[in-house]
Amino acid sequence: MKATRKVRVGDVTFGGSTLVVIAGPCAVESREQLELAAASVKASGAHLLRGGAHKPRTSPRTFQGLGSEGVDLLAEAGRRHGLPIVSEVMDSAQLAQMAERVDLLQVGARNMQNFSLLKELSRIRRPVLLKRGLAATVDEWLHAADYLLDGGNENVILCERGIRTFGGETRFTLDLAAVAYVRSRCDLPVVVDPSHATGLRELVTPMALAAAAAGADGLMVEVHPHPEQALCDGPQALTPVGFEQLMQRLQPVALAVGRSVSFTGARAVPVPAILEAR
Ligand code: PEP
Ligand code: MN
Repeated sequence: MKATRKVRVGDVTFGGSTLVVIAGPCAVESREQLELAAASVKASGAHLLRGGAHKPRTSPRTFQGLGSEGVDLLAEAGRRHGLPIVSEVMDSAQLAQMAERVDLLQVGARNMQNFSLLKELSRIRRPVLLKRGLAATVDEWLHAADYLLDGGNENVILCERGIRTFGGETRFTLDLAAVAYVRSRCDLPVVVDPSHATGLRELVTPMALAAAAAGADGLMVEVHPHPEQALCDGPQALTPVGFEQLMQRLQPVALAVGRSVSFTGARAVPVPAILEAR
């Protein structure tokens, strides 16, 4: 087994001894929503802030994201809270405006084999978070990563987010064996997204703990200040308090597998200053 490659995103290192936690809403919806999410996940020890601005939705009649304005809001919240930001790029037209502003560019599950997008991303220096396609084998996923690596971008992080199987109880089936398989086949850091994998809030923390135990280098978790009002993926979003509890419970599991997390103890989720003033 090769040592894991270290991929730096801002001042955060994937593939090192710290279990890196990415958290935030599915979609950027408003400045207020994002501020509440960012302040709370930061207070609980998250390392990066996520938020979709360009959303790949199954139906064109659902919220498609705020687009470029959403990227601006995410960048602003990331700066304010000292969190590097992660957001999905769906095509090359979006890449032009996102490459400079987004610290970690996400390739979504539905785009894992968008080879022209991968080739474009291979030519830039920004790190890429490559999600596994929802019907992709692990080897197909690793070949997709090769497009980035062979084209010259060495900063690739993999993300297992569940695959389609036959059960309907969960949104997808989280393939944790893939984490160990990837680890035995290549040196890329791998993170696990228990939110999309399960689609159910109450399963997110158990699967996050299992992912840490299986050797994942990080987690990506959806957190919304008011999940019942979310414009996208509300049923799988943790509340800020739920995320705090996840971080707390992660601590002993991470330590047991030789990693640290940055949770430093239970604390009340603060009311962000910009909202206090209203
Ligand atoms: C996401 O993380 O916002 C997302 C759309 O996930 P996936 O591509 O894994 O469905
Ligand atoms: Mn989502």
